[in-house]
Amino acid sequence: VPELPEVEVVRAGIERYVVARRVSAVDVRHPRAVRRHAAGAPDLVARLTGRQVIAAARRGKYLWLPLDSGEALVAHLGMSGQLLIRSSDAADEVHLRARIKFDDAGPELRFLDQRTFGGLAVDELIGVGPAAVPSSVAHIARDALDPAFDDDRFFRALRTRRTGLKRALLDQTLVSGIGNIYADEALWRARLHFARPTETVNRPEAGRVLDAARAVMRAALAAGGTSFDHLYVDVNGRSGYFDRVLAVYGQAGRPCPRCGTPVRREAFMNRSSHHCPRCQPRPRRARW
Ligand SMILES: [Zn+2]
Repeated sequence: VPELPEVEVVRAGIERYVVARRVSAVDVRHPRAVRRHAAGAPDLVARLTGRQVIAAARRGKYLWLPLDSGEALVAHLGMSGQLLIRSSDAADEVHLRARIKFDDAGPELRFLDQRTFGGLAVDELIGVGPAAVPSSVAHIARDALDPAFDDDRFFRALRTRRTGLKRALLDQTLVSGIGNIYADEALWRARLHFARPTETVNRPEAGRVLDAARAVMRAALAAGGTSFDHLYVDVNGRSGYFDRVLAVYGQAGRPCPRCGTPVRREAFMNRSSHHCPRCQPRPRRARW
C-alpha cells in the first residue's frame, strides 16, 4: 500500500512531465479502473480531452491533477496502482489500465494496477487556487508535513476521540498520510505505546508523536519511499529502499535499535503493530 512519502515521490515525478500540457486522447483499457467515475468511461474521456493540466497536487495519500476546467483528475492508487511516464512508443505493460496522451506528442501518462483496487475519476474542485481540493478529498485532513497543519487543533481533536493512539494516527479525518508503517515507526521514536488511550495523551506527547511522524516521513521522502511488496515503484520504475532503516516495522524478534529488547508484533486492525515492550510500555488502560 503506498503511503504519503511514496505518493509524494510520484506527485513530484509526474509534475515535471504533465504540468502545462494539454490532453489529446484518453484510452481506458479496463472498466474497473474508472468505476469511481460514476458517469462512466465516455464521460471521463470527454471531461479530460482538450483540457490543460495546471498542477500535480496531493493531500495525504490522495493525488490529483487540477485541470483548466475547474475539475481535477483524481488518482486512487489503492493497493497496487501506479502512475508512470512512458514514451508513447514503449510497449504496453501487462497491467496497463488507462493511458493519457498529450497534444505535443511527448511522453504519455499511464495508469497501471495489478490488483485493480485503485482507479481514476474526474471530480469537481472545491475552493480556489492552490488550496482547492477535489470534492472526494474534502473530508481528508491535511497531512502532518503540510505547512498549514495545525498541531493544537490536532491535539484538541485527539483528546475528544476516545480511541487508541495508533488508531487515531491512522484516522484520515484527524491527520492524513500516516499509514501502518509510519505509525509504528513514529510511535517507537516518540516512545509511546500504540494502545495508549487518546484522552490520556498530553500536549507534549502529541507534539512528540507528530514530530516523529514528520521525521520518519521526511527520511522516507529522502530515500524515495519504502518498498514493501515490490509492487510499488516510483514514477521512473525504481523501488524505494527506506525499508532497510525501519526500526520496528517488520522487525519482530530483532533487537530494538535503542535498548536491545526484542521487538514485539501484535495483531492490530487486521494487520499488525510493532513496538519495543521496554521503550513503549503498555499503558495500564489500553484501547485498541
Ligand atoms: Zn527499546
